[in-house]
Amino acid sequence: MKIACLQFAPELGKVQENIRKADEILQKTQVPLKLDWLVLPEMAFSGYDFHSLEEVQPFLEPTTSGITTQWAIQVALHYKCHVTVGYPEITTTTPPTQYNSTVTVSPSGVVLTNYRKTFLYYTDETWSAEGDKRFFSGPLGGLGNVTLGICMDINPYKFTAPWEDYEFANAALQSSSELVCVSMAWLAHLTPTEIMTNPTQADFATVAYWVERFQPLVEKAGEQPIYVVLANRCGMEKAVVYAGSTTVLKIEGGGVSLYETLGKFEEKCLVVDLNERPKFQVRSGR
Ligand code: GLN
Repeated sequence: MKIACLQFAPELGKVQENIRKADEILQKTQVPLKLDWLVLPEMAFSGYDFHSLEEVQPFLEPTTSGITTQWAIQVALHYKCHVTVGYPEITTTTPPTQYNSTVTVSPSGVVLTNYRKTFLYYTDETWSAEGDKRFFSGPLGGLGNVTLGICMDINPYKFTAPWEDYEFANAALQSSSELVCVSMAWLAHLTPTEIMTNPTQADFATVAYWVERFQPLVEKAGEQPIYVVLANRCGMEKAVVYAGSTTVLKIEGGGVSLYETLGKFEEKCLVVDLNERPKFQVRSGR
């Protein structure tokens, strides 16, 4: 199976420019003929750092029928692959509800699922409701059994639940997913100067933290490998800096290995073939 993650630096509220940038990166990428899945970050075209409902309002998109979903359908049909991309959602109910969501489209351009972020980060709480299902787990088109999350979903609920609850990793474990995919706008604890120094090098502190949040899979998963896709964005918005460092992991027999990571400020589409050998061993197995 081949998976691509498009990491880029969207600008807040510049939807058309952001779409153009994503298209340009894809055109420069050697997309394999048999790509299975293309994953984009959380709120990929709207940008992320909105601080109120009023501020995000102009960019809200009706459930699976706004500009992001239209883009996903076109791209899915073009590359004949599944596409998952984040967008700020508004329901068509009265009164409407807002969510931080991802839409997943099949290679034939059919919407397979709309997942609503369950564990909200402070920024989300200013405008979004919590998704009422704890993560998506189940069959997802031709991808098999998948668990989907969005960024903060991998953290302890509201940062107050016990660290060892590992809510997201345990949900993936219980559902026997072979593939776990998290679309993200993960922040870095780095200054703008630090992020721009060695931009093509990953922020390994962040990658190590992500790996740590999948501990239950490392300890309890059977011999069948589990693949974890962490598709982040990079760049800056207002006072926040994003960590980039998009990563694809393989967890197998108690060991963790890493196919590849993107840099902390690198705009690029990472393509990984899960059938190949991962490049780096992060933790040796049983
Ligand atoms: N804990 C994450 C972070 O620090 C959450 C961000 C998010 O959900 N977008 O970046």
